[in-house]
Amino acid sequence: MKLVVTGGAGYVGSVCAATLIEAGHEVVVIDDLSTGNRYAVPEGAAFVEGNLVDVADEILGGGDVDGVLHFAARSLVGESVEDPAKYWHGNLDVTLSLLDAMRRHGVHSLVFSSTAATYGEPDVVPITEDAATRPTNPYGATKLAIDYAITSYCNAYGLGATSLRYFNVAGAHDGVGENHLTETHLIPIVLQVAMGYREKIMVYGDDWPTKDGTCVRDYIHVRDLADAHLLALQSNSPGTHRIYNLGSGDGYSVREVIDVCREVTGHPIPAEVAPRRAGDPAVLIASSEKIRSDLGWDPTRTELHRIVEDAWEFTRALGDRSHSARR
Ligand code: UDP
Repeated sequence: MKLVVTGGAGYVGSVCAATLIEAGHEVVVIDDLSTGNRYAVPEGAAFVEGNLVDVADEILGGGDVDGVLHFAARSLVGESVEDPAKYWHGNLDVTLSLLDAMRRHGVHSLVFSSTAATYGEPDVVPITEDAATRPTNPYGATKLAIDYAITSYCNAYGLGATSLRYFNVAGAHDGVGENHLTETHLIPIVLQVAMGYREKIMVYGDDWPTKDGTCVRDYIHVRDLADAHLLALQSNSPGTHRIYNLGSGDGYSVREVIDVCREVTGHPIPAEVAPRRAGDPAVLIASSEKIRSDLGWDPTRTELHRIVEDAWEFTRALGDRSHSARR
């Protein structure tokens, strides 16, 4: 198939693009490089640098595109609270433009990169797809709004789509890992301490109602996540919008994550307790039973040790090209 990957220079988008190429598909990456890295675009993908809204017609207009995987988005929770306009325009407007371009050019298959942030604070864990959606920040709200739009486009215009709601994506694959100019995620920050780029890790609260008082999250390997995109794409059906959660199904506390990072890196990784971070739920664990039973998704890299090992290998290989060189 000929596939367009928006945001294919970003962390998740680039690993998915590489996975599609490995599976024998032709891939065109569109990315404006606002947060992505040119080096992350896999060899073998055609690359178009530009604003999605400006280039969508040109790329989709050839009449030979079979599907779109849409990753391009703004994705920082804190920033979305401070500057929601950037998120409503950057996520919702841009996606509506993409959906309309797909309609104009008869492209009827979409996989959408969504998030557990659409659920907000859960009543029950593990979280299933029929849990209430009450996002606690504009980022999650924009992704949820897009899901509503996709559902109605599927019903009215024959689009076949799958939204994948990611829990905590981590790890690396084939030289591509998390390398954001502004890093907010736990594992890359802890590994930056091990690299000597930061003095210590700040633990956001140790008085949560959890096993050791720190927040619990479900970490999923980026390559397992990519496999789910391929399965979703292969089974999209016109007029249908499916929504699946993606996690490993195990919860690890912040302290447990830091301990695993100590084991993997051999570094003492000093940690200091800081106040809670606004908007953090205590526990987020996915039920991914639905995608396992519907699509046969079978993640194989679910051990946190393995996930951190891959992230560490990437972080070391990147060395000074990482945040320190770009900060
Ligand atoms: N966290 C932390 N210190 C950091 C970064 C994150 O204690 O420097 C905690 C955060 O409060 C959350 C967990 O680690 O409980 C995972 O945070 P992350 O930002 O990686 O993912 P999120 O669950 O917010 O999507």
